[in-house]
Amino acid sequence: MSRLLVLFAAALAAASVAAAERPVALAIHGGAGTMSREALTPEAEAAIRADLDRALDAGHAVLARGGSALDAVEAAVTILEDSPHFNAGRGSVFTADGRNELDASIMDGATLDAGAVAGLRRVKNPLSLARAVMEKSPHVMLIGEGAEAFGESVGTTFVDPSYFRTEERWRQLEAAQEKARTQAHVPLPASAYFGTVGAVALDAEGRLAAATSTGGMTNKRWGRVGDAPVIGAGTYANAHCAVSATGWGEYFIRLAVAHDICARAEYLGVSVADAADEVVMRRVSALGGDGGVITLDAQGRVGLPFNTSGMYRGWVAADGSRGTAIFREE
Ligand code: ASP
Repeated sequence: MSRLLVLFAAALAAASVAAAERPVALAIHGGAGTMSREALTPEAEAAIRADLDRALDAGHAVLARGGSALDAVEAAVTILEDSPHFNAGRGSVFTADGRNELDASIMDGATLDAGAVAGLRRVKNPLSLARAVMEKSPHVMLIGEGAEAFGESVGTTFVDPSYFRTEERWRQLEAAQEKARTQAHVPLPASAYFGTVGAVALDAEGRLAAATSTGGMTNKRWGRVGDAPVIGAGTYANAHCAVSATGWGEYFIRLAVAHDICARAEYLGVSVADAADEVVMRRVSALGGDGGVITLDAQGRVGLPFNTSGMYRGWVAADGSRGTAIFREE
């Protein structure tokens, strides 16, 4: 009996050592776009980096205490949604008729469960509602009033629409509309600053998750929905690969970017980071789109390709190395 107990204790100890040694990793983004050092004041840059750091801290704290990849991506994205510096939650861009309409999605790589919401006007944290869609409804994607009615049934936090407004975003709308008036054919964003947020995480159980949240694109019309809430376009995770995208959503939808990266890695036997490079730097570029992605594989290796001049990004890699960056040459 005592010998059995000893064996049992030894097995338990071995299992917990193995668990403790399993790598955890996290990557986040706060949007890709045209960013120049001149246009970003030192104060704005410091504030953005501080928020990226807070999001990394929040997500990594979840992973470090043995929490799930899903909890980690939600914790990180919630901080970025609450920050006015990013185009998600508070600080979202405006539609052509001066509203904020928010989209988000989340995916659990271990189960392939997913949840998404689009066209929200009053939900403080769209990503949390996307998670509720995944966990508490029989559906994957809910939109507009129906999504908000579902939110009421699950105790979602609502805010007055004015909560999302920042003066900077309002000025961006006015500038976009002025440009549209003065130029006959305005190719939508090209040089626009995006600002969507997202996170990918690997937890100590080896589970991957991905999440993305956005206000979409400035001056969008007609209930336009981008790639962020489209599973397989802006967000995807499976057992081997997690992706969150940012960029010109119409291109990311047409190329099914997030799923294509994971499928290429699996079918072609290439690394997730190489697959992401191929899709973002060649395929999105060749079609005329721009943006970037953050990726993780099951070993916690991080990929951060983007074809714009900058992408707000941060990571804690499996080896514990950590950083934030904005511009290409960092
Ligand atoms: N991908 C988002 C959209 O098209 C925009 C962004 O990434 O900033 O809605």
